Amino acid sequence: MASACSIRVRGVVQGVGFRPFVYRLARANTLAGWVLNGEEGVEIFMEGAQPGLQAFVQDLKTQPPPAASIAEIEVHAAAPVGLNEFTIRESQHRERPTVRISPDLPVCNDCRKELFDPADPRYSYPYINCTNCGPRYTVVLGLPYDRPNTTMQRWSLDEYCDAQYHDPGNRRFHAQPVACPKCGPSYTLCSDVAVVHGSAASVRKAAQLLNDGSILAVKGLGGYHLACDARNAAAVAALRERKYRKEQPFALMASDIDVARGLVELSEEAEALLLSTARPIVLAPAKTELPGVAPDNDELGVMLPYTPLHHLLFAAGAPEILVMTSANRSSEPIAYEDEEALDRLSGIADAFLIGERPIARRVDDSVARLGTFGPVILRRARGYAPGAVATLPGARPILAVGADLKNSVTLVVDGQAFVSQHIGDLGHYQSLRAFQETIHDLVSMYEVRPEDLIVAHDSHPQYLSTAHALTLGGRQPVAVQHHRAHLASVLAERGEWETRVLGVSFDGTGYGDDGSIWGGEIFAGSVNTGFERIAHLRSASLPGGDAAAQYPVQAAAGFLAQLDGLPDLTAIPFGFPQRYQNALELIRKDVRTFPTTSIGRLFDAAAALLGFTREVTFEGQAAMWLEQLARSAALTEPYPFPFASGELDFRPLLQSVIRDRLLGRDRGKIARAFQRGLSQGLCDALVAICQMQNLDIVALSGGVFQNELLLQDLKSLLEPERIEIWTNHAVPPNDGGISLGQAVLAAFGQFERSTEMARSQDENNYA
Ligand SMILES: [Zn+2]
Ligand SMILES: [Zn+2]
Repeated sequence: MASACSIRVRGVVQGVGFRPFVYRLARANTLAGWVLNGEEGVEIFMEGAQPGLQAFVQDLKTQPPPAASIAEIEVHAAAPVGLNEFTIRESQHRERPTVRISPDLPVCNDCRKELFDPADPRYSYPYINCTNCGPRYTVVLGLPYDRPNTTMQRWSLDEYCDAQYHDPGNRRFHAQPVACPKCGPSYTLCSDVAVVHGSAASVRKAAQLLNDGSILAVKGLGGYHLACDARNAAAVAALRERKYRKEQPFALMASDIDVARGLVELSEEAEALLLSTARPIVLAPAKTELPGVAPDNDELGVMLPYTPLHHLLFAAGAPEILVMTSANRSSEPIAYEDEEALDRLSGIADAFLIGERPIARRVDDSVARLGTFGPVILRRARGYAPGAVATLPGARPILAVGADLKNSVTLVVDGQAFVSQHIGDLGHYQSLRAFQETIHDLVSMYEVRPEDLIVAHDSHPQYLSTAHALTLGGRQPVAVQHHRAHLASVLAERGEWETRVLGVSFDGTGYGDDGSIWGGEIFAGSVNTGFERIAHLRSASLPGGDAAAQYPVQAAAGFLAQLDGLPDLTAIPFGFPQRYQNALELIRKDVRTFPTTSIGRLFDAAAALLGFTREVTFEGQAAMWLEQLARSAALTEPYPFPFASGELDFRPLLQSVIRDRLLGRDRGKIARAFQRGLSQGLCDALVAICQMQNLDIVALSGGVFQNELLLQDLKSLLEPERIEIWTNHAVPPNDGGISLGQAVLAAFGQFERSTEMARSQDENNYA
């Protein structure tokens, strides 16, 4: 006797091959009925024998498509209606914006099997993909998501691909980028000496060149990579020199999980992160020394192959650990257009492995780590973007343009907050262009009328992002204070709008309410009522303003100017260079010197006292160096960092560092005592304020909280006090999360009108 049931599946179930999966499952269990994409997820009706229905529901729960994530399955008994077959019905509704653009997906197991099956028509084909895997965001040119609106538009399907594309039972049913060697794009290898045509031959040649120590530019999903053998120190050194990248670590790609396990220490959770569909670069403690890959760094950043091309390269015998770094010079954004790549990378790469499929937009690799409080995203890009990270109340569309460093933008449509890929430092022309393109992209893809937008930007009047926001002509540009935005990003991820928390916002630099350089701020409040600044780091002076971030000794001059009885810091063991004297001179004359409460600069000052007296070559380098130093020592007595009258006083902290340096104490121990002192002092302040304000949740955000040792210390100190700690997980704690916080505070009316901001800006510019 026939039974029937209706099923609704919620979660990430649209645009991930769910309907063909349901179709195949229903056919396998000889069931009739239909499946469609509804407003709230996938809707299924089916009828047939009871055991078949049960088996179907069981398999639905246990074997969903790889990129799907089922939040909820509702099954209701229904009356059979006498259907004879199972069909995929067209959606009755316009697709919701949330399902329009999926992040890119790594090649699935089924496609991998075909890739290495000599009998398969797509054997060795670097563009193999299906509804469960392959490019999405990096090939979409417009909506709806159909082939003519992707970068595959100029390749028409041959009979083989076309039949699969139109077969509801096939894994490639409506797979927009579907292709095969006969009808699709291919790869070519170009060098000064030769051009190798054909994907298979060019991949073989590329693998050989890598083995020979060459540097290759390899076209990937969201841009070009520069690749070389990570165990070949000469190749790595050449890459550093040609790329003008002095010390910033290079990312690695390991051929498989076993190789990755040999490279870095991986917990079960870290492996899960490495293997997750975003396939991020995962930072983990190094187990091997690879000269030149990550100088002065105990961690390595490792990712696994995610495109068919990567798998083919390793199968063709490429070295099993490759440096795979974004193809650019220094800190420019990743190159993604062929001509641009050939132009910008000539002189860096010995050869180019060029794929014909164009890249719709640049999307870097994401960077993540398994932190003290779970997975943390440090750079949110490929595999995550442009996914939604939060659901906001209210329906007004909001565009938040982020900050100028580590920029990302957020668009809120129908309450869904979509965060763009990492765009980078807007000071670079290429990044600024990418920033403008991304805004245009998102606004047009989600069909928002620009005149309806609320545009939110940082309150820094001289940010390029601010200037651009003011030209967008939305309904009402609004300014959101930097450190409040950091905090709001933590609460937004959790959908906590009313909960009052104590918020700690520690970073390198941000424009404060008073026009000074903030970065060591403690707030109380909620998203809905706003955050009141109730404590901060004691104010120091910063000669040169934001430019001081380049030179730890320059920041040190500003902090040390408040200390009595300083020794001669140009002498041993400190050896400060002339720049320190020049900075002191600026302070004495009060020229280009600005007040600051930045914890980032306090870290720089301590790092300078511990020996980091040179220029930094990438953002946050001195603080990272100090953290590594501190990790080399066991837990030790903290230096004092007293809290009184709403101020955390850095003077005893730095005085202790100087005293112990003069006593010749081990630098690791000094760094450890500094870090522990910072945590202990902050903890004492937080406990006192929590009692006063009747709070028991602390939210931590800002770039300083990329320091895992600091988080470990705070966890061990705050948990016994019964204080809960909230941190970022979906967006980075650094400025990559600012746009989400801006959007949220704009939605809740916690902002300043840009016009009022403009009136007051002349009085207190510091930059
Ligand atoms: Zn696939
Ligand atoms: Zn084909």
